[in-house]
Amino acid sequence: MINKDFNEKCAVVGVFNSKSASQTAYFSLFSMQHRGQEAAGISSSDGKKMHTIKDRGLVTQVFDEVKLATLKGDIAIGHTRYSTAGDDSILDAQPVYARYDLGELAIVHNGNFTNAEPVRKKLIDKGAIFQTHMDTENLIHLIAKSDKTELLDRIMDGVKKVEGAFSLVFSNETQMFAVRDPHGFRPLSLGKISNENGEDGYIVASETCAFDLVGAKFIRDVKAGELLIFEKGKEPKSIQLFEPNPHHCIFEYVYFARPDSTVIGKNVYKLRKEMGRNLAKESPVEADMVVPVPDGGVPSALGYAEESGIPFNMAIMRNHYVGRTFIEPTQKIRDLKVKMKLSPMSEVVGGKRVIVIDDSIVRGTTSRQIVRMLKEAGAKEVHMRISSPPTTHPCYYGVDTPDQEQLIASKSTVSEIAKYIEADSLAYLSNDGLLDSVGRDLNYCQACFTGDFVIEPKE
Ligand code: AMP
Repeated sequence: MINKDFNEKCAVVGVFNSKSASQTAYFSLFSMQHRGQEAAGISSSDGKKMHTIKDRGLVTQVFDEVKLATLKGDIAIGHTRYSTAGDDSILDAQPVYARYDLGELAIVHNGNFTNAEPVRKKLIDKGAIFQTHMDTENLIHLIAKSDKTELLDRIMDGVKKVEGAFSLVFSNETQMFAVRDPHGFRPLSLGKISNENGEDGYIVASETCAFDLVGAKFIRDVKAGELLIFEKGKEPKSIQLFEPNPHHCIFEYVYFARPDSTVIGKNVYKLRKEMGRNLAKESPVEADMVVPVPDGGVPSALGYAEESGIPFNMAIMRNHYVGRTFIEPTQKIRDLKVKMKLSPMSEVVGGKRVIVIDDSIVRGTTSRQIVRMLKEAGAKEVHMRISSPPTTHPCYYGVDTPDQEQLIASKSTVSEIAKYIEADSLAYLSNDGLLDSVGRDLNYCQACFTGDFVIEPKE
């Protein structure tokens, strides 16, 4: 089983040829904060030297004006990290930075290397010393050990030795590179930013919501298996490094991406609404109101309400100042954090039959608590509807689903789960319903719902 300590599920950004590169990276990371709240970091390059600041905490906690002012230069790459409990060392924040024989190098990574352990073991056997738990550090070693004389060739050598999910951005003193794995598991988009000198500047980011905030113009998605090279005075150069075999993560559409992002040409909000519509078609139930679990369940609840004609009500309030509950270590704390975060309104649900909509059930903690809270608030019936299929398998490609034994749907039937969460009824969107919602024009990785892993992790 893959060591979860190696998991990286995050946001990445790279800004090239922009006078305020670190500021642009900062605002981009801010808009992608939902992809990781544990740590944040930026490395900038002023043409001669690199500067790095990274720390635990939210983007706004890690950086201020003074710190950003020290991140000088026209190039900046950045990262927000979403880690599992236990590996919260500051060393495990990104960018991963190193000095080596060609100078300085920084890397940011969204995804998971599925061969992280054997590659690391081989490097350690040959005398490499590691400072972090991050699979991304393997790449630093692979690049440093390559016998090629140009960084570009070393990057190509290095990424050919790693497997799995990787949307990567590299920078040295003068260049920037972006690479997406052959399956295109994790998103990565390319945009243009206008530079103060009238020259073209470029940005790559995990999500297009970053472009909207910094005023960048979306150009296109980085292709599965593509390497982009950014050099001053030139258009980005593209090399198709790997034969593309797209398996885009469908869970980005279900939960992970921000609704206003366009992921592989599709607006996430619209797809989530469609999931809700299809859920209403597949699993109707008589009720007085449709209520979302905020924020994730809102678009699909709107779709469900529109399709069913049952009124929509924001009857559960969310406190936005509590982090995501899912990443907390113990069950007791998880239970408490659900209550801290979500609070139903008895004035609205009292005496009513409620359809409550969420995007997914992982361990069952949230749904169980929500059903209990709604009943305590006086709801007469609570029908849970989930806008994705049962999550039966962990993700090896960069989404932090827990080990299989903790996934309630891996060991229980839908009716057993309904009983566990104390709902009057429970239904999930079918696999077909999900595909109808997102469109069948692309090839997706749905392994968390089906167990069909295109690459198995290596021990
Ligand atoms: P649980 O309480 O363990 O069943 O978690 C379900 C809740 O976690 C749902 O409200 C989801 O929106 C949310 N969720 C699903 N997947 C993830 C993830 N990878 N990271 C954080 N939260 C998640």
